[in-house]
Amino acid sequence: MIVKPKIRGFICTTAHPEGCKAIVRSQIDYVKKAGKINGAKKVLVIGASMGYGLASRIAAAYGCGAATLGVIFDKPGSSTKTASAGWYNTAAFEGFAHADGLYAKTINGDAFSSEIKEQVIDLIKKDLGKVDMIVYSLAAPRRTTSDGTVYSSVLKTVDKEFTNKTIDVKTGEVSEATITPASEEEIFATVKVMGGEDWKDWIGSLKAAGVIEDGAVTVAYSYIGPEITHPIYKDGSIGKAKDHLAATAKEITKSIDGVKAYVSVNKALVTQSSAAIPIVPLYISILYKTMKEMGLHEGCIEQMQRMFAEKIYGDGGVKTDENGLIRLDDLEMRKDVQEKVQNIWKNISSESLEKYADLDGYRKDFSKLFGFEADGIDYEADTDTSIGIESLS
Ligand code: NAD
Repeated sequence: MIVKPKIRGFICTTAHPEGCKAIVRSQIDYVKKAGKINGAKKVLVIGASMGYGLASRIAAAYGCGAATLGVIFDKPGSSTKTASAGWYNTAAFEGFAHADGLYAKTINGDAFSSEIKEQVIDLIKKDLGKVDMIVYSLAAPRRTTSDGTVYSSVLKTVDKEFTNKTIDVKTGEVSEATITPASEEEIFATVKVMGGEDWKDWIGSLKAAGVIEDGAVTVAYSYIGPEITHPIYKDGSIGKAKDHLAATAKEITKSIDGVKAYVSVNKALVTQSSAAIPIVPLYISILYKTMKEMGLHEGCIEQMQRMFAEKIYGDGGVKTDENGLIRLDDLEMRKDVQEKVQNIWKNISSESLEKYADLDGYRKDFSKLFGFEADGIDYEADTDTSIGIESLS
């Protein structure tokens, strides 16, 4: 097929296999160039096919030389239909890892289900014995629990309505968005999906099955951000879920022997999940412009390489703030960065957008999530859309 992007709202319904491969390759190259990390050796990554999870897997494999087992929830392609981007990313990652002599296997299915947990446990027992790190990087719109109940997460405020600037990424028009408050049920459901319950289930199940190494580390990801985004993020329905995630880290460390659990607060970046949050894409466009100008910009792979090399496996052990959180948002939250962003935010309009925001950078990163706009790819050429993931075929 000749594959072109088909963007529908916040997602692209097509993905380019060669483009995804080239982007995975460039992430691998970045980690290799950054040097060896004396870290985890057998790593389970839950939510391994896109964004921060994929970057974690690459940093573990190519930084630490780790065997990686990835849990993904992706669709294969055919000769007439493209696979999901996560499928192509995983196919590419496994291909490179195997060629480089690294163990890499993948399980494709709903990470919230007990079936997938059992499959993972069986595979760890068979191939790895135990794991010494578990990365939990799910960003999901819904979760079906074992009794069949479906919970859907919402991106809303808590208590009161909130109006602020937003952007139509397609047209570049800056306007105002009003976000309505979530109901109690919606908050409860959001915590069910994006909170720590399933993370704790995973760690509890792995521990009970005897497949966690003593002294293992588990990490899940969160976001805090500046005041302008607080009503929709930190203090919103998703923020309630992230509070639950942070509380769960403490619970896991306390109640599961031999495991230390952390939440890493990461930088705001263009991923499939963040694109769906109102207001945030405008903030990210301004942040990109500011941080690029200041020479401080990082993408998922730079963040994850730094997390492994400096924050978790660096000299002196795991580095956290006074609340026990790993802070990879340290550069984003720097006073000088935030002062610039706040000043721009106050005055930004459709007219001044080009000068003060990096919408092109935002759009390019969005395209890259699906394998488009990668360097050196001929997008007019026929490409095989039915490629498989080695360990699944
Ligand atoms: P993403 O959408 O790029 O990746 C999410 C991954 O989870 C994908 O690989 C997806 O396939 C997988 N997934 C979703 N549902 C699944 C299921 N049921 N079973 C198995 N896999 C499933 O998202 P991301 O932005 O990388 O988010 C990962 C984590 O990082 C989230 O907790 C998010 O809140 C957090 N985070 C994101 C940002 C940001 O700006 N993007 C910033 C800080 C923290």
